[in-house]
Amino acid sequence: MWERIRTGAATGHARSRAWIELDMSALAHNVHRLRALLPEGCELMAVVKANAYGHGDLPVARALNRMGVNRFAVATLSEAVALRRGGVEGEILILGYTDPADAALLERHRLTQTAVDFPHALALNGAGRRLRVQIALDTGMHRLGFDCAHISEVEGVYACRNLTVTGVFSHLCASDSLESEDVAFTQLQIQRFERAVKQLRADGFDPGRCHIQASYGAINCPELRFDCARVGIALYGVGSDDRPTRTEAQLRPVLALRARVTSVRRLATGETAGYGRAFEAQRPTTLAAVAIGYADGVPRALSGRGEVLIRGRRAPIVGRICMDQMLVDVTDVAGVRAGDVVTLIGRDGGEAIRCEEFAERCGTITNEILSRLGARLERVDAGAACHSDRTGTDAAV
Ligand SMILES: *Cc1c(COP(=O)(O)O)cnc(C)c1O
Repeated sequence: MWERIRTGAATGHARSRAWIELDMSALAHNVHRLRALLPEGCELMAVVKANAYGHGDLPVARALNRMGVNRFAVATLSEAVALRRGGVEGEILILGYTDPADAALLERHRLTQTAVDFPHALALNGAGRRLRVQIALDTGMHRLGFDCAHISEVEGVYACRNLTVTGVFSHLCASDSLESEDVAFTQLQIQRFERAVKQLRADGFDPGRCHIQASYGAINCPELRFDCARVGIALYGVGSDDRPTRTEAQLRPVLALRARVTSVRRLATGETAGYGRAFEAQRPTTLAAVAIGYADGVPRALSGRGEVLIRGRRAPIVGRICMDQMLVDVTDVAGVRAGDVVTLIGRDGGEAIRCEEFAERCGTITNEILSRLGARLERVDAGAACHSDRTGTDAAV
């Protein structure tokens, strides 16, 4: 998809209604920064679930392969199979539950499945396929994992003749916070994890690769020495939100979200616009219709509180966001016309809307915004896209 659009950018992209622009040099920069942050011997495992947080899993994973990243994590079997079919090499760990009835697919595509608890491990073993598994340990999140206090069940997995244990991992649930209670809980989770791993070793079992950090574990606890860190959101160059962190990772956002103005009209004072007549003009107003809506992943909750960039200026989203379109008040931006490029996330001239700002206005975190960006959006290479502040108008003709 990526390659095709890239070559057709001059026409295909110029005609797009709404698109995602990917800056692969930012991705490379982030890989470099994260590797520098992690201690010697701690590998970067790229989390590319949910279509690589909306960025496009195949182009992202292939680019990462070229950068020497050979460990990937996804949430589901179908995500993992799609990566393998797309030629992605290295370890692909499925973090979520997979039905043991699908064991043949796991085996055929050389995937690594998480054993989410003991019954799951037994059922996977019972499927009669030779499978690679990693054992999830519940150290306090209480979502998935073997209870880390009952090490005998964990050791029971080693008795499963069809299963090869290649790793043991856990997940931190409050590592994004620097509040003292949360920091203490993170320390407790780490202690529990280390104790369980130590016990396994003492009992003669090889835990394989041990890991507990995701993005915030890596950024807020960079001194930890595990075999890898499962990094998702940070790889894409944004924080989940704007809370402070212990280290400045100096990451660059990979994604920009843009759409096109399709029509411009004038309203007299007192006229209303959009569904439910939610917007009322308080002055003679110029409205631009923009070809992106909630079906593309722009939350309807942003209605009346969002802003976009157009011709390098901020302009408010007004009225109710529709399924495929939205309205922007461009009264204060001179010369807006059909074909202009509108930036919802990203930079335009001297202005920028960061993904963190966009998410906060929606009352959520960037992870949700990015992972829900719609399949209808085209994905283009930022290098091929001609978006710098004025060029959008070139496409208007
Ligand atoms: C999603 C996920 C990650 C990645 O989390 P980020 O905060 O995006 O880095 C890591 N581990 C597990 C188990 C996950 O579900």
